[in-house]
Amino acid sequence: MINPTPRLRFAPSPTGPLHLGGARTAMYNWAAARALGGTFLLRIEDTDRARSTDASLQIILTGLRWLGMDWDEGPEQGGAFGPYSQMQRLHLYRAAADELLQKGHAYLCYCTPEEIEAGRKVMEAAKAGFIGYNGRCRNLTAHERAAFEQRGLKPNLRFRMPAARVLKVHDLVRGEVEVNTKELDDFVMLRPDGVPLYNFACVVDDIGMKITHVVRGEEHFLNGIKQRLLFEALGSECPLYAHIPLILNKDGKKLSKRDADTNMLEYRDKGYLPDAVFNYIALLGWGFSGERDLFTRQEMVEVFKLEHIGKSGAKFDEEKLRWMCGEYLRRFSAADCLQNSKPWLTNAVPQAAFTTHPAWLANIIACYQERVAILSEFAPKIGWLFVDLPVLDEAAQQNLGKDQAAKQWLLRYADLLANSNLPPSFPADRTAADVAVSLPTKKAAAVASCAFATPQQIEQECRAFTEQLGVKFGDFVHPVRAALSGTDKGPGLFDIVFLLGKDACIKRLRAAAS
Ligand code: GLU
Repeated sequence: MINPTPRLRFAPSPTGPLHLGGARTAMYNWAAARALGGTFLLRIEDTDRARSTDASLQIILTGLRWLGMDWDEGPEQGGAFGPYSQMQRLHLYRAAADELLQKGHAYLCYCTPEEIEAGRKVMEAAKAGFIGYNGRCRNLTAHERAAFEQRGLKPNLRFRMPAARVLKVHDLVRGEVEVNTKELDDFVMLRPDGVPLYNFACVVDDIGMKITHVVRGEEHFLNGIKQRLLFEALGSECPLYAHIPLILNKDGKKLSKRDADTNMLEYRDKGYLPDAVFNYIALLGWGFSGERDLFTRQEMVEVFKLEHIGKSGAKFDEEKLRWMCGEYLRRFSAADCLQNSKPWLTNAVPQAAFTTHPAWLANIIACYQERVAILSEFAPKIGWLFVDLPVLDEAAQQNLGKDQAAKQWLLRYADLLANSNLPPSFPADRTAADVAVSLPTKKAAAVASCAFATPQQIEQECRAFTEQLGVKFGDFVHPVRAALSGTDKGPGLFDIVFLLGKDACIKRLRAAAS
């Protein structure tokens, strides 16, 4: 048979947000579809009416888009195989149910929940090998059925599980697996109100949507066996299955809500970069190559194969995700990094500065790009630049109090700066300085022309000054840094002086000396 066009789907239930496991399932389906030159579609499995919400659906769609997974068919996209929400496909399940009833693969079950439970209890007490539905309605006569109907009982439709049949199945991840149908229940397919249950709806839709490959969590492996039987009963060929292992926490236990944010959009809101999150999730069970951790979506698509997904559970490590995010963040130019972090900077930076001082802000961001991993981490670190006088943290207070003479140095240094060619302080126009200098100084190439003293020149002046003063340079910089920024962390001292500009430096040095 000629291979049909590959068609893969992600089939979320909109009963909650897109979480890590769902994002990974979507990603492997998406990547396989793109790698095989096929179609990736979204199907919304909304038959749990009590728990499905439109809000969850929107969060799922937004999460997929944020991670850069586009779908060819599905909600907001349409397609030739729709509708793509199960509650709009009830007529199709009804038709398939009639077919299965007619062929004898299904039967009507009038048992009440209490009767089903009582049946289980009897099996449990008898220590039966199989515990489940006892099959009371398997072989009802027309007469018995009529009697139940007369009592007003509404039947569920159950699948007639073949007795003790050994199935040898191939899973793209797990390889060959043998399952005996005696371990499986006559599961319910359709409720009296015409709403299908998962396995049944899934198969009717996988047939209707011509799905060729199914990638999903290993918790669905046994469902996959039931589904194979349903495909057979409906006279269709089943897709290739890949059941992917669980995501584990650092200790190798099943990942819980405590170990990772449940909603992918929380990563977005915290300022994680989508390219980095995508890259990290891709690695939870799959490897690009032995040595390489960082890759783009396109690079992944070029080499992705479902058969290369690992058999053992992948460990989620928040620290590694952060590290990866930092790696991506450092690839941005300072200007792009500023642009991307803008939503998180609104409380820290005066709004007008984005238009009046973009180069200055980019220089500030450049000083911190090595020091943060996610976009929201800039704001709390740069606040000292925008206040009148910084609040000194404990380390800064200690550095200032260490040497009796330190306050004198600050005053003398303030006088020196008053006579040097520092850029003006914000909010004055500093354009001539900031466009010429790209901080941090350690990385910056020599600055060809700057109308003001560059950080390198400020440093030279300072070294000469400490010699004159007879103070060790190392002893001098700590109290100065404390006075200027209020902390001993952060950029190099002369980047600080350059960024603050003349008036702010003098004011801070004098205030700390008083
Ligand atoms: N709605 C199911 C889930 O979210 C889909 C499973 C499948 O892909 O078949 O787990």
